[in-house]
Amino acid sequence: MKRLTSKQEYENYIIIIGCGRLGANLANTLSDGGGNVLIIDKNKDSFRKLSPSFGGLSIIGDATDIDVMQEAQISNASAVIAVTNNDNANIMAAQIAREMFHIKRVIARLYDPEREYVYHEFGIETICPAVLSAKEIDKILSQNDLQKDVIKEEKQ
Ligand code: AMP
Repeated sequence: MKRLTSKQEYENYIIIIGCGRLGANLANTLSDGGGNVLIIDKNKDSFRKLSPSFGGLSIIGDATDIDVMQEAQISNASAVIAVTNNDNANIMAAQIAREMFHIKRVIARLYDPEREYVYHEFGIETICPAVLSAKEIDKILSQNDLQKDVIKEEKQ
């Protein structure tokens, strides 16, 4: 595996955990935007989702394993983003990043909104698809209502 060696390569060094639909998409976007990205997944087939233009690194391994995190040179990361499909794995990886390696920006996806407090206690930012989707649907509905009101007013 190619290793990050020079100091410059550590600038904007982002570790993504989970190369699924969200992780791969994010890795492609950040890499295309010039970020130094390393992505970890326990299933090697998952890396097929990365685009041919992806210029980052990848490690096959379980992100809840500290040895894997060390191989990823986590202590040099400016951000760690845990987006596996498993809330427990995300919480564990995020805690390792925050508590053991003192990474400032740690973001984790979680499916269960009721567990958000666990993350916040440890200074971990969270993304909850159910909450985001509900907000977005509510926004679309209110925009539709607004449009109807405008049309109504114009007709009067
Ligand atoms: P998706 O459901 O499409 O967002 O995919 C989630 C990804 O997370 C899959 O590619 C899984 O192989 C990966 N994954 C799940 N648990 C772990 C783990 N503990 N460490 C690394 N990758 C994981």
